Parts: sequence; structure tokens; C-alpha cells
Amino acid sequence: MKRAPWGYAVDNGPACWALLDPDYRLCGCGAEQSPVNLVDARAAQLPSLRFDYGLVRAAIEDTHATVQFNAAPGHGLMIGRRRHELRQFHFHHASEHLVEGIRWPMELHFVHTDIKGGLTVVGVFIREGEANSAVESLWQALVDDPESLDHVDVDLTALLPGSTRAWRYRGSLTTPPCSEGVSWIVLTDILTLSARQIAAFTNYRPANCRPVQPLGARVLTIC
Ligand SMILES: [Zn+2]
Repeated sequence: MKRAPWGYAVDNGPACWALLDPDYRLCGCGAEQSPVNLVDARAAQLPSLRFDYGLVRAAIEDTHATVQFNAAPGHGLMIGRRRHELRQFHFHHASEHLVEGIRWPMELHFVHTDIKGGLTVVGVFIREGEANSAVESLWQALVDDPESLDHVDVDLTALLPGSTRAWRYRGSLTTPPCSEGVSWIVLTDILTLSARQIAAFTNYRPANCRPVQPLGARVLTIC
């Protein structure tokens, strides 16, 4: 069955999502929702992260929430010995997660699935600074006629900051249906985009971020 349309406006935004469709009820009553404010994390020994990312061809999909880049197979994230295949990546303006209450200009999400279908999302904060060459090619999708441009080739390693130090917690999709059971990994290192690159996305999607949700009984770790 077709699900109800949703967005980020007053009449269809995050505060209303649970009311728009019964399938979205977790957006209102879920106990392990995302994003969250990243504060008071507990230092922990966790399986190491290794990005097996490279040059990828990504199909452009203009969802109404964002522009999504669907990655061709062959790129993934190793968490310990378990591989998580990259499916797609997309951007939010402003950031969805906060760091000690501070919001960054943008946040990039890499969405992975493992062999059992489990979801792992890697979040990367973006601040204003030097331009990013990989984003330059991605942003063609924001201006070009979708009919004429259906994919881009991008070096994923240029979209990762240097360190794999990250906050980790159990959360949800940040968009309807807000499904839970998502493993979140939010890198502490921050990527830079130029002011012009941030403005280009802001013009395209002025606000596509969900407010932070209560952490509740969950434990936030950092490693
Ligand atoms: Zn996202």
C-alpha cells in the first residue's frame, strides 16, 4: 500500500509524521529514535572500523526529502570482521545529530546493509571550510536536468574525514517510517565544504533535518 507523503513543512513535518500514516507510528512513540544529541559518551572498546570505499558509480535519485546517490556494489564498511555493503548516501541540511547541543551546517549519511539485512548508517558532520572535490561532481545532480544526468562517478574516500573515531548507538531511520534497530556510527572528525557548496545544497533543500530525540535508556559509546 502506498504510504502517505511527508516532508519538513509545518503541515507534514517531523511533529506530524506519526499522524500522517499508521506505518509511521514509531516516529511518535518509538523509544530508540534518531537523531540524538551526542553528549556524555562512554569510552568503550568496540570492533574496529575500516572503510573499503573507492571510486563508485552512483545513480541519482531525487527523493522529495533529499537527493540520494545509490551506490553500485563493491563498496563497504568492515566492522571487525563483518562487512556492511554501502547502498546509498545522501545529505541533510542542517546536521541531524548535535554535538553537546551544537548543530553543524550539514550531515552526510552513508547507509549500509549486512548479510542479515541489518542497517548501519555512518554520519559525517560537515562544516564550512575548504571545498570538497568529490562533492563538486555530486552537486551536478542539484542543477542538471535529471533526464540528462542519471548517475555520477565519485571517489568515496574524498567524502570521509581522516579518523574512524566515532560515537556509536542504537537508533532509527531519521525519516518515516522511523524504523528502529539501526546501528548508528557518527564520526567525530568533520568534513569541510566551501560556503558555495553548502549554499548550493541549502538552495536545493532549505531544511531536511529531524529534531533530536530523547536518548532514554540507551548507552552512547565513543571509540
Ligand atoms: Zn539521512
